[in-house]
Amino acid sequence: MLANELGRRGIATVLLDQKPGTAFNPQANATQARTMEHYRRLGFADEIRKLGMPEDFPTDIAYFTRFAKHELARFRLPSSREARQLITTLAGSWSAAELPHRVAQKFVELVLRRHAERLPSVTVRYACRVNAFQVHESHVEADVNGQKIRTAYLVGADGPRSLVRQKMSWRYAGETGVARDFVGGRMYAVYCRVPDFYREIPHPPAWMNVSFNRERRSFMPAVDGRGEFAFHTQLKPHEDEAAIDDAGAAAMVRQAIGAPLRVEVLARDTWTAGHALVAERFAEGRVFIAGDAAHLFTPTGGLGYNTAVEDAVNLGWKLAAVIKGCPGSPLLESYEAERKALAERNTAYARKFADSLGNFQPVAEIEDETPAGEAARRHAGEYLAAHGRAEFNIPGITFGGRYDGSPAIVSDGSSPPPESANTYVPTACPGGRPPHLWLPDGRSLYDLFGFEWTLLCMGEAPAADDSNLKVVPLQNGAVRDLYGADYALIRPDQIVAWRGNDARAALRALEKLRG
Ligand SMILES: Cc1cc2nc3c(=O)[nH]c(=O)nc-3n(C[C@H](O)[C@H](O)[C@H](O)COP(=O)(O)OP(=O)(O)OC[C@H]3O[C@@H](n4cnc5c(N)ncnc54)[C@H](O)[C@@H]3O)c2cc1C
Repeated sequence: MLANELGRRGIATVLLDQKPGTAFNPQANATQARTMEHYRRLGFADEIRKLGMPEDFPTDIAYFTRFAKHELARFRLPSSREARQLITTLAGSWSAAELPHRVAQKFVELVLRRHAERLPSVTVRYACRVNAFQVHESHVEADVNGQKIRTAYLVGADGPRSLVRQKMSWRYAGETGVARDFVGGRMYAVYCRVPDFYREIPHPPAWMNVSFNRERRSFMPAVDGRGEFAFHTQLKPHEDEAAIDDAGAAAMVRQAIGAPLRVEVLARDTWTAGHALVAERFAEGRVFIAGDAAHLFTPTGGLGYNTAVEDAVNLGWKLAAVIKGCPGSPLLESYEAERKALAERNTAYARKFADSLGNFQPVAEIEDETPAGEAARRHAGEYLAAHGRAEFNIPGITFGGRYDGSPAIVSDGSSPPPESANTYVPTACPGGRPPHLWLPDGRSLYDLFGFEWTLLCMGEAPAADDSNLKVVPLQNGAVRDLYGADYALIRPDQIVAWRGNDARAALRALEKLRG
């Protein structure tokens, strides 16, 4: 994503990854609406929305004792075809250019890679490991597979064991090793194919399948809607990950299904749930970190990869501006101020969801065919239905992130509405996502924004001779009401930087922010 942001601005960029290519394992499963809006800004949201499950496949979240046994609760969500139509009719919390999309990260990475490789100033090199680097006054020198590479800046988007973070001696701070009945401990991931799943399971298909019983708790998102799944369970204290083979992994999946279906194991891996960690520093001089290198989540809420994408979106235009000749601007120093606070906020939300799901435990009779079993399932169903709505309907988290107090925002003295995870109140108070609106001609307001800065003019549009500023005259009362001012200055990452009633003050604010 960072290579795309930089390359689209003509910045010479080299992306180095020690792996032979993009991810084989599905990894993250949820692309949040705000991330989809950024993919739309870059022109490939539709390409992403076509990936993953068939376009008529529901993206429900469903809870079962076992997938072939009792259904406990279901949170219904639209298919990708429905999402495309639905979004143009929504207002309030879901007033947006894009809805979320449920798709495995492995497919998204391929699109990001293809677009990055098409950019003339970007070089993408896999099977290249950064072994070491030194920071000099005028540049950074990195040892890559034994060869020296010299760059102006280095961004470590190098995952949880980040070499860059460690070499800079920036520690992770926060909570780690939290133990829960589920999503708190050593996890086992099985990427698998269950060819007969949809034929044999007596329930409507769902994107996210969660099993809730005392033997095998798991979550298992559909990968392609045709029988591939990303199964995740928590290992019990007596289960030794080193002793698990393909047959053992398949047996764990079958336990969660509760029926003797054929399970083909495509890949297996372990990971740890129970982190809510944020690095002490995100930047110093020529060195930055982003993504999991800078923050580590428990995946409840589906925020880790999305927070990583937003780091790249935040850093890309700032780095490009400074490289292109705004060296005195406060932009680069704003990266850490803005993204560290967001990472702390988002990891805290993910931890809350993990507590809500993982500390709620199945009682002994949950699978019994008795009145007590039925009562236990009813109780669990009510709890899990409420939990599902709270974890998977989060416009307040994904649209409501703010950069108040940042040096790259000019406050107008107003305060944003109070934050809440499950509702989002649009506001043009500088520091947050610009309020969205569908225009009378059917276009998204965001599609009018420029690739760099935008001045939305509900008052008379000023003359501005600046190739990095798009002046958008918009004599639209609804937009004026929504923004609460005659003018709004929007940053390249689609954040309100300034608002007011004097166009000249907008241009002065832009000069100041760009240094
Ligand atoms: C089971 C599971 C489910 C998840 N579900 C979600 C979800 O639904 N939504 C969500 O938002 N997030 C989710 N996540 C989290 C998400 O997968 C990560 O947050 C995301 O991959 C982070 O991206 P990244 O680019 O920062 O790091 P990574 O994807 O880890 O990429 C880092 C890259 O750096 C490379 N690298 C490391 N060191 C070097 C070096 N020295 N030289 C060269 N290359 C190097 C690695 O090869 C790797 O490719 C989930 C995670 C798990 C485990």
